[in-house]
Amino acid sequence: MRVVEIEEKDIRKLREEALKAFPVEACALLFGKRGNGKFLVKLVRITRNKLGSSARFEVDAQEFYNALKKAEGEGLELLGFFHSHHAKPEPSQIDLQGMRLWEGYVWLIFSTLDYSMKAYLMSESKVEEVEVRIKNGFED
Ligand SMILES: [Zn+2]
Repeated sequence: MRVVEIEEKDIRKLREEALKAFPVEACALLFGKRGNGKFLVKLVRITRNKLGSSARFEVDAQEFYNALKKAEGEGLELLGFFHSHHAKPEPSQIDLQGMRLWEGYVWLIFSTLDYSMKAYLMSESKVEEVEVRIKNGFED
């Protein structure tokens, strides 16, 4: 099973954003390093849900571009996306379409219903669950 490692402070940030944005779905970009089936999140960038919807999300293209450029300048790559659901933290049909476009990227979903969080990834057109490992600060 692949693993996404994320610091507790970033989890807190995402959770706060999800509760603040509710009933609209919150969204964010996850940046960091990847290797050997492991995604190490080093930077979380909250972005506006352009759709203002409680059932789907879309990151504003300009915000996406700016965040990507800045992260690349810091030597970080895009690892995936975060968004919230007022339902179980499982990919919706629309999410699955998005995941197909972004194969190999992590989709981290937080439920504002029961506060659980799960991560998924599309690989060779199949959905895989990714283990979320919360770290209390990274060593390096
Ligand atoms: Zn969704």
